[in-house]
Amino acid sequence: MLALKAKKVFTGLEVIEDGVVIVEDEKVVEVGPSSKVTIPEGCEVIDYKESTIIPGLIDAHTHLTLSAQISNYAAAMKDDKYVLLLRGARNMYCDLLSGVTTMRCLGEIDNIDVALKDASEKGIVPGPRLLISGKGIRSSYGHGIMGAPFDGVDEVRKAARINIHDAGADQIKIFVTGSKGEFKNYKFSVEKAVERNEMHCLLTKEEIQAAVDTAHSVGKRVAAHCYGGVGLRYCVEAGVDTIEHGIYMDDEDIRLMKENNTWLTLTLNAYFNDQRLINRGTPELTRGFVKYRDYIHDAYTKALKAGIRYALGTDGQHGEMAYELEKLVEFGVSPVDALKAATASASELCAVEDKVGTLESDKFADMVVIDGDPTLDISHIRKVKAVYKGGVKLNPNMEW
Ligand SMILES: [Zn+2]
Repeated sequence: MLALKAKKVFTGLEVIEDGVVIVEDEKVVEVGPSSKVTIPEGCEVIDYKESTIIPGLIDAHTHLTLSAQISNYAAAMKDDKYVLLLRGARNMYCDLLSGVTTMRCLGEIDNIDVALKDASEKGIVPGPRLLISGKGIRSSYGHGIMGAPFDGVDEVRKAARINIHDAGADQIKIFVTGSKGEFKNYKFSVEKAVERNEMHCLLTKEEIQAAVDTAHSVGKRVAAHCYGGVGLRYCVEAGVDTIEHGIYMDDEDIRLMKENNTWLTLTLNAYFNDQRLINRGTPELTRGFVKYRDYIHDAYTKALKAGIRYALGTDGQHGEMAYELEKLVEFGVSPVDALKAATASASELCAVEDKVGTLESDKFADMVVIDGDPTLDISHIRKVKAVYKGGVKLNPNMEW
């Protein structure tokens, strides 16, 4: 058994002063103030003194084969699949070191997520717990480099079934709307689309419904890459569980999502991180993103104000969950609520709240020790002192 002590323990729900976490095997046994928790005899005690212990962070939207933290990452995605596999392994180790112990991967090239989840679970490469999607489902000529083309209700249904039964997908990813520059064939203009509220929907209502019905029939969730417009309405009406990005949501979209309890995954790195835009290496798209930042800021602010349930995702900016949290605080969210979004709320969004996301008895002992107090100053989240996954401390000196 193991007892971790620290000046503060944030459980994912509340802050405990002078806290202690008791761990047995992979699981948390007890959490509370040290005045109330009895440390069992023979238990190894580690006192992290002035530090803060928080649950392992959850990146609710990422891709292992997208490496937005490196320069020219769009070109790098065309690398040989074995190079992508190795880069994916490196990416997930980098995420783990940064305190991310669970990641929801929303579509990968060549089912690389399937191999990396297996390799990680077998202890071959260190990584967070992976929730995988297999092939992202998009239409022919539709948006989504992390997806593959499927057309018509039958193909979508079959793709969802193959993902779930062959690839072992934890959820299904569909790509519903596109973006300028990546969708040249349709002479698409984000500007006009936003002005006229005409965001092209690239899957039919029936195809979206087929994905949802197939996934839900076996208890899996559906995540939709969806910016706004009619596609977002179709998604909400069809029962899509999580809207990804949602950058062009209008008031009516937000009202509908709230009414239907639809989750939103904010991907703040993708739209606000300047380094990512530099790394992208495609000036036209970069200008497009910068141009619409005010609009995105507005949409996200309204969604947060409306009380939409949400979590955060780096969208392939590996090692940068800290940026998601820091940026969220800039949106006026308190550090404690930001931490909740990346832990307790994210576990609910990912449907793994019975296993991770909070430090409570019977959940996995996934923890990050922070050299500072991120509940007061969110930038301290970067000062990672130790990462525990299933009660085992990560060796940060492993050369990988
Ligand atoms: Zn994505």
